[in-house]
Amino acid sequence: MIDLHIHLDGSLGKEEILRLAEITGTDLSDAVFDDSPPSPEGGLKDYLKRFELPLSVLQSPENVYNAILLLAERLKVEGLEYAEIRFAPSLHTRKGHSETEIVSAASDAAKEALCRGFPIGVILCCMRGLSREKNLATASLAADFLTRRSGIVGLDLAGDEGTYPNSRYGYYFGFAKEKGIPFTVHAGEARGAESVLSALRQGAKRIGHGVRAAYDEKTVSEMLAAGVTAELCYTSNLQTGAWSAAKEYPLRYFMERGVKVTLNTDNTAVSKTSLKREYELLRVKPEEERILDANARTAAFENRLLE
Ligand SMILES: [Zn+2]
Repeated sequence: MIDLHIHLDGSLGKEEILRLAEITGTDLSDAVFDDSPPSPEGGLKDYLKRFELPLSVLQSPENVYNAILLLAERLKVEGLEYAEIRFAPSLHTRKGHSETEIVSAASDAAKEALCRGFPIGVILCCMRGLSREKNLATASLAADFLTRRSGIVGLDLAGDEGTYPNSRYGYYFGFAKEKGIPFTVHAGEARGAESVLSALRQGAKRIGHGVRAAYDEKTVSEMLAAGVTAELCYTSNLQTGAWSAAKEYPLRYFMERGVKVTLNTDNTAVSKTSLKREYELLRVKPEEERILDANARTAAFENRLLE
C-alpha cells in the first residue's frame, strides 16, 4: 500500500502531539483534544480548524524533523511501502524560524527515514488564502531542494478551496510548470467538477481528491485523456461533505472508466483512520488493490524511491 496524500499536521495523534510538545516545552495543559470525528455539516472549513493544535507544536525545525520521522515509522509499521507526506512550511515559522530551516529539517527527516528503511517523499504545500509572495517563497524552496535529491519531491496547493478558487493561483501553476516541479492540487473537494477541469487544464497530473469530478461526464473524459491521477480520500471526503455517504463512493466508477485513482488517508488523526482501514471500508479486492498500487507507483513524484 502507498499513501500519496497524507498531511503531516493532520496525521499526528494525541500521544505524538504531547511527545512533540514535551520536546519544545510547549504547554498544552489547557489544550482540548477533540476526539469526535468531523461531520459533513461543518464542511471543509470546520475540518481545517482541527489543524491548529498540531501546528502549535510544529514551530521548530527539530519538531518538524521529529514529527515526520514519527509518522514515517508509524506508516512503516502499518505495512506501507512508500508515502508522500505533505505540509505547508510557511505555517511553521511562527516562532521565528525561516521557511528554509523548516524545509531543510523536512529534507533531513526524509533522508533519515530512507536510511531507516522507509522511503518517503515530502510535498510542500502552497496555501489558498496566503499571499502570492508567501506561496512563491514556498514554491521557490521546492525548486531549490528538488535539484538536490533532498527528499522534497513536489508541490501542492491546499486549503480552503471553497473561498479561494484555482483562478487566483495562475502564478502557482505557472511557476511549477516553468521550473519543472511535479505538482498536485486539491480540487473537486469543496468545489465541483469545474475546479478539477481548471486544474488539469493548467497542467496538473495529480488531483488531490477530485472526487466531485464524478458528477460530470465531460470532466471524467478529460481526466482520462489527460492521464491525470486522482488522490481519493474516502473517509475525509465524507467528513468534509465533499461526497455524500448516501451515494456510492466513485472509486469503482473512476476505475471502470479507466481513470487512474489512488486511495489515501488525507489525515489519519483528524479523520481517525489508517490506509488499511480505508481499504477495508471500501472493501477493496486484491485485484483492485493491485491496480491502486500500480497507479500510485506510476503517479509517485519520486519513483526512484520505489525502485
Ligand atoms: Zn488533503
